[in-house]
Amino acid sequence: MSPKQPLIGRKIEEGLKRFPLEEREQIIKAYLLAKERHFGQKRRSGTAYIAHPVRVALELARDNYDYRTVAAGFLHDVLEDTKTESSEITKLFDPEIARIVDGVTKVSTIKLKNKAKIFSDHRHFLDQVDNYRKILFATTSDPRVMILKLYDRLDNVRTIRWLPQRKIVFYARETIEIFAPIAERLGMGLVKTKLEDLSFRYAYPQDYAKFKKSIAGLYKNPEENVARMLPEVKKALRRAKIKVISLSGRAKGEYSLYKKIERKGSVNTIYDIMALRVIVASISDCYRALGVIHSLYEPIPGEIDDYIAKPKKNGYRSIHTTIKDQKHNIFEIQIRTEEMHEQAEYGANTAHWNYKEISHGSALKGHAEDWTKELEKLKNIKNKKEFLSELTEQLFAEQIFAFTPKGDIINLPVGSTPIDFAYRIHSSLGNRCTGARINGRIVPLNTPINTSEVVEIIAGKAANPSSDWLRFIKTSQARQHIRAFLRQNQEEELIAAGKMKLAESAEKFSLELLSPTEADRQIEKSRLPYNSYSRSLVAIGEGAMRTMSLLRVLYPKFNFSNAREAKPAQIEEAENLDLLKNIRHEFAKCCKPKPSDKIIGYLGREHIIKVHKISCKRIKGAEQRRLIEL
Ligand code: MN
Repeated sequence: MSPKQPLIGRKIEEGLKRFPLEEREQIIKAYLLAKERHFGQKRRSGTAYIAHPVRVALELARDNYDYRTVAAGFLHDVLEDTKTESSEITKLFDPEIARIVDGVTKVSTIKLKNKAKIFSDHRHFLDQVDNYRKILFATTSDPRVMILKLYDRLDNVRTIRWLPQRKIVFYARETIEIFAPIAERLGMGLVKTKLEDLSFRYAYPQDYAKFKKSIAGLYKNPEENVARMLPEVKKALRRAKIKVISLSGRAKGEYSLYKKIERKGSVNTIYDIMALRVIVASISDCYRALGVIHSLYEPIPGEIDDYIAKPKKNGYRSIHTTIKDQKHNIFEIQIRTEEMHEQAEYGANTAHWNYKEISHGSALKGHAEDWTKELEKLKNIKNKKEFLSELTEQLFAEQIFAFTPKGDIINLPVGSTPIDFAYRIHSSLGNRCTGARINGRIVPLNTPINTSEVVEIIAGKAANPSSDWLRFIKTSQARQHIRAFLRQNQEEELIAAGKMKLAESAEKFSLELLSPTEADRQIEKSRLPYNSYSRSLVAIGEGAMRTMSLLRVLYPKFNFSNAREAKPAQIEEAENLDLLKNIRHEFAKCCKPKPSDKIIGYLGREHIIKVHKISCKRIKGAEQRRLIEL
């Protein structure tokens, strides 16, 4: 680089100062390439395009992200908005930088579909948003992709007013409902607050106006107040010779205050609009610090919580107090030791937000704690390649996210097939599934679906689930539906068989079959082990119960013994034909055989044995192999 001609501005030079020479060279190379590629391009605001990636990269540098993230920050729009190929970046830069840039470009292509519907139907919206967050994570192979995407969004939302009017609301809501929660999950609290507060007035203009009115006079320059208070407290503690390990403050963002007012109903009971956190060396220092602060500011009675003496149920320990400063600003102050802090940040509190933030059963749930903790460490850490890939693998190994042709997102365990997909949409769609297209191409039903594929189910009117499906499906939902269907189908066959047997026996006594309702009533009164007519018929169909047992229950007043005397041989022997026991059989109507006759069985099409007289004309000339001696 020629020293005569400054290639980079002073701002950039300043911003990159902290990086070692080697890394700085890489970053500057990225900047120069981006500058060249975006040359002549303008943002909607009219400024040079390159100003946007520069702001994004410098903000990442300022917030202590590693040099690759910063370099990728400069390059993040070249693939999407210029003629640059991904292979060029791979050639010129570290493959990790190229991967981050690739990833950001990919994430940018995921768009919410059905935008109108998403914002008109609240439930649909929440489901989709949750899925959208997951799909964003899933396609992000390296968390730095997501981090960069968030900084990109942050810069874009600062210039949101330049977007076409009709896009502003959507863009702002998407920022609040999707990107801000992602930032929160990644432990990027400041970014989250900025994203929300910059978008609030555009996303929900009416709520914003109401909110501003309700807090008029109560929420004036909270950041300034916090900034003013910090050195005061520090000085006082030092004077008291209390070793301060860290002292930090924050002002609650407008949007998060608005949400809290919504929950609590009034701003008057919210004391943590401004908050300070003091971390000291020992428990005794916690109490001493409390004394110092109370001598400095007026404590609000009833607002001191000693969670050191009496920890919260989740183990959280700290002292909380609420004070008024000289200007009557109310602050919440938390005092704790380092150990308590660690526990609060990575233990109990994370468990708390796990529960609060991730209400749907999500893949993130179990890992959210590690994810946040580790991402926190990611700042300031240079080479964390292994840890990163492991982390993302753990997080997303188990799930895929696919689209319906309408753009709804369906998430399934890895290895799921179109059958699983169909049952996830609706059990009747699963039952009628005959084929599937993935990304427009017809595929076998056992084809595993990959994330972001579009799956279309082909359904037939008369199609039925097959027991073969049980061999390759992945979800228990599909398994249950298929099993239930098969069971029910088999049941129908058994009922039919049972009913036929029953009808035959009934006929022998010249009894008319009862209606199912009447039959149920009789069975209810009985001591039969089967509690309904249909279950009794299944039992008969299966051969688990004799027809006579059911007949006696159904016709309690009928005298079977007398009837038996009338036609003794027939019944006794028909019931006792050993070979026919538990085998479906019918007495042929043509020759009406009696047990005293010489009979022969004919194996019919449905494997039902027809019992004929040997002399019956109809079996003369029948296939020999179908005849069964009885
Ligand atoms: Mn961008």
